[in-house]
Amino acid sequence: MLSLLHTIHDQTSHRIKDTEKALIYQQICLDPGITRKRIVTDLKLRPTTVSNMVAELIDQGMVYEGELQSNGRKGRPEIRLYMNPDYLVGVAVYIVSKQLKAVLLNLKGDILAENSINVSLQMGNDDLMRLLVELIIPLKEKTPESSKFIGVGLSFFGNFNKIRQELIFSMRWPNIKNFSFGKLGERLNSEVLVSTSLEAKLNHLLMYENEYQEGGTLLYHWGYGIGATYAMNGVILESTPGYIMEAGHVAVDLHNETVCRCGGIGCLETEAALWALLPELSKAYPGVPENENDFRPFYLEHHLGESEIIRKAAKALAQSLATLYQILHPERIILLSPFLMDEGIYAYVKEQFYRRTSPYTHDDVTFLLLQPEFRGEIYGSTASLFKNRLQKELTVQD
Ligand SMILES: [Zn+2]
Repeated sequence: MLSLLHTIHDQTSHRIKDTEKALIYQQICLDPGITRKRIVTDLKLRPTTVSNMVAELIDQGMVYEGELQSNGRKGRPEIRLYMNPDYLVGVAVYIVSKQLKAVLLNLKGDILAENSINVSLQMGNDDLMRLLVELIIPLKEKTPESSKFIGVGLSFFGNFNKIRQELIFSMRWPNIKNFSFGKLGERLNSEVLVSTSLEAKLNHLLMYENEYQEGGTLLYHWGYGIGATYAMNGVILESTPGYIMEAGHVAVDLHNETVCRCGGIGCLETEAALWALLPELSKAYPGVPENENDFRPFYLEHHLGESEIIRKAAKALAQSLATLYQILHPERIILLSPFLMDEGIYAYVKEQFYRRTSPYTHDDVTFLLLQPEFRGEIYGSTASLFKNRLQKELTVQD
């Protein structure tokens, strides 16, 4: 995000001096130890502008002065400038297997403190509220004295209503219904932002990989559940209520009459999601773990990728990818899946995808596989909290 600060005032009413302040701060963030003189040359700004803005940034606590830069005999030594990474801190909450995890992170993305809590799959709304408060408050209290706390970004699996700020339902937590993040914000006395885990991951990828700012990016998850999210030119596709791209709940086989956990009939998830494959898999492979992280090593060790059950699922999955591709034509398809960590199944999905799409369009698409440890949602879920606050802080005070 720090390399995108020069755009922070775009699409808002702002003055030239606000952009200059953002540019100067960005330069200090990206080039630690830079001097006022070098900022003047690098940004081609007037020395008085730089000196006034730097004074304001120091006064705010966003920037501090370090050691002197000795530059030989000629000229007077200049003071080096550094950003204060702890100026703003926030909390990110995310899910790994059966745990709710939270981290306190600063502007640079350094993790200052962590906390985690085990959750029962049977928990209800009150349990979730209590657990989140227990998880987040101790981290909020660890905010360094000179730092400003900006709020909490949560990334969950499930269906959200963004207007009402509610988690409507989640396949993993069947007893959670219309959980209110507004109420959580009141309990925490903090701003609370919520996104799906995939949106938060994609949001981070868009900021981190510059080339993703151009063209279409499809992020597709095939695991315990199935879902997708898509961005065009750096902007994630949304709908008014918030639910979108329910790839796992689109039917690929019209003869499939199985009732899905969502209540629909014949959804892709009933053919290919881990939750739906588990009964059959555990007959053939007793002790197969339920959650994705434990499942992955078991799957690879026992070569489950070679089983007919997985191949059948992979074929249905490839059809879903092909359909999404034909609708959106993304330049890149990023996959996140324990199943695809098996090279044979990954190759099979791609082969089936190419069979099911027109050869005329194949030159334009690249497949990428995300590592299961990828935790971009930590940064993606909190990015707009940091951005909104920086926008205010980087407006010149009158
Ligand atoms: Zn469904």
